[in-house]
Amino acid sequence: MKQQNKKIQKSSKKKKSTKKILIPAFLALILTFSGLALKCFNDMNSKNPKYFNYFKGVECGYNQAETQDDKQWELLLVNKSHPLSKDYKPNLITLNGGEQIDERIFYPLKEMFEDAKKNQIYLCINSAYRSFKQQQQTMQDYIDDYISQGMDKQSAEQKALEYVAVAGTSEHQTGLCLDISADGDWDIKQQAYDWLYSNSYKYGFILRYPQNKSAITGIEYEPWHYRYVGSYSNDIFESGLCLEEYLKIN
Ligand SMILES: [Zn+2]
Repeated sequence: MKQQNKKIQKSSKKKKSTKKILIPAFLALILTFSGLALKCFNDMNSKNPKYFNYFKGVECGYNQAETQDDKQWELLLVNKSHPLSKDYKPNLITLNGGEQIDERIFYPLKEMFEDAKKNQIYLCINSAYRSFKQQQQTMQDYIDDYISQGMDKQSAEQKALEYVAVAGTSEHQTGLCLDISADGDWDIKQQAYDWLYSNSYKYGFILRYPQNKSAITGIEYEPWHYRYVGSYSNDIFESGLCLEEYLKIN
């Protein structure tokens, strides 16, 4: 009997000690899983345009309805023959994700992105404001790269010019344009481009470098590059002209 009692005692001790191990292990497992799930959700939020919000919590002081200006800035032309000075810097606002835009296009852009979302088009900002300095740096990086490949300085500079815009000639310095697309994992880029093409003018934006206009704009077709022209967007969209052509006529 005594021996049997000992056995029972032993086994209940064993059970107790197993419990002692199992409960913390179970808790640790739950914690790990909830941590992982949270991390997953955060990752999804940071990358998935379905969840990511460029505008949430961003305060913009510029209100178009309250501002009386001549709207000439809406037609600001920047290209190879119309460069911006190195001092041109708009009043910038930083969006969630870090991209910057001219504060004057904050609300129209926000509205466009929100309406796209309502139509299951999850837009991404790939590039917005680019400073004069950044443009200079890009050029220098290309030149350095060619020199490191064995080219002399002059040839490297010439070669870089074939691929990179001279500082001041990128429309991105205006802060009025953006490279917009959709992330391929969640959406088809073409759907986003189609939606933007047919709807962006309602929010003041136009496709800046259309097909068959590269001889005039000096830039190849870019289905992702949209430029804010505000009150002129309807006119320009309906005319089928690119900005250079439109400015020439008007
Ligand atoms: Zn662009």
